[in-house]
Amino acid sequence: MREVVLVKYGEIILKGGNRPVFERVLMKNIKNALRNIAEINISIAQATIYIEAEQEKLDAVCERLLKVFGIVSVTRAGVCEKNIESIKNAVCEYCGADLKPGMSFKVEAKRSDKRFPLDSIQIAQTVGAELHDSNPGLIVDVHKPQVVVRVEVRDTAAYVYSTLNKRAGQGGMPTGTGNRATLLLSGGIDSPVAGHMIAKRGVEIDAVNFFSFPYTSDRAKEKVIELASILARYTSKVNLYVVPFTEIQLEIRDKCPEEHMTLIMRRFMMRIAERVAVKNKSAALITGESVGQVASQTIAALNVTNTVCKMPVLRPVIGMDKNEIVDRARRIGTFETSILPYEDCCTVFTPKHPTTQPRLAAIEKSESALDVEQLIERAMEGIEKIEVYPD
Ligand code: ATP
Ligand code: MG
Repeated sequence: MREVVLVKYGEIILKGGNRPVFERVLMKNIKNALRNIAEINISIAQATIYIEAEQEKLDAVCERLLKVFGIVSVTRAGVCEKNIESIKNAVCEYCGADLKPGMSFKVEAKRSDKRFPLDSIQIAQTVGAELHDSNPGLIVDVHKPQVVVRVEVRDTAAYVYSTLNKRAGQGGMPTGTGNRATLLLSGGIDSPVAGHMIAKRGVEIDAVNFFSFPYTSDRAKEKVIELASILARYTSKVNLYVVPFTEIQLEIRDKCPEEHMTLIMRRFMMRIAERVAVKNKSAALITGESVGQVASQTIAALNVTNTVCKMPVLRPVIGMDKNEIVDRARRIGTFETSILPYEDCCTVFTPKHPTTQPRLAAIEKSESALDVEQLIERAMEGIEKIEVYPD
């Protein structure tokens, strides 16, 4: 039987007059995502996107669609002619195969073609009876069925599928509908998750990584590139800016009190990230900070880091426990890369007793031993830009 992929989208439907704009962006993103996977035919009607492709490419098409933001579900459906006999046959053949004796089910029907001789309830009853007759082990349950079989009678054809064919997509908003933000991307677990969470809301992502050659190795840098490429699976592209950070770290180590080292370092990161963001028309920064996770992430410490930038700093994992962040990292596919044991620039220069309750005035005083502006300018001059695509 011929199959199509039905894509449902969620929140976009709430966009009122702007809805067509969001739909256009989603359609464009889908075409872009499938460009190297299959030749497709794509159309949209009644809040459903229909995608046709060669049968043997459909698995790969669905897999890819599951990473496109804005998509709530991806369902393979059988296509048949618009008459009740064909629909009955299609349901028994296409959905019946997946239904096992003992399973409870119900049929739901929708017809957008009101000239179809049966109404929705009649379609559901007729198809349900046929399915039950041909699979007597099934149990009809209209209240809490394990499986819902759906029939949609549309303009040119009818589509049949069951909830067993349906897979949950990413949700969120289509990439490109929500401005641009700059992610401070370390090699750790938290920042890739933070980037994914904001990207999911339609925001395009640039990434900044602070790199301490020769204290951190090329493999540490490759790890960050790999993390950016995993994020790019969702957004199609990530611009990664690698900032040389060694000189700044050595200056801080030599001229500032050890217990203030991490916070002063974090303040430099935020300042430089903000400059990179302004240059590339980003409207916000994103970090993977979570309250209380480490000394530099107490609320007092976050305040000290926050004061150096004017831009909003988005911290989507701020209230999450480490195990919740790890769960997400596993789901989005960054975890295995994040735990590779290559050193990060922060782990190389870690004080034994970092301040957890810093006072801004004290940190500013320590920092005044440094030529902040000149250090930032030199780091900015050494930035390497890498355009990262999905791997
Ligand atoms: P992560 O798991 O994201 O590395 P973390 O818990 O190790 O986070 P910190 O090392 O205190 O936390 O860093 C806090 C945040 O600062 C990170 O989530 C990240 O956004 C940013 N950050 C830290 N190190 C770097 C780096 N080398 N390059 C870019 N951003 C960094
Ligand atoms: Mg880290």
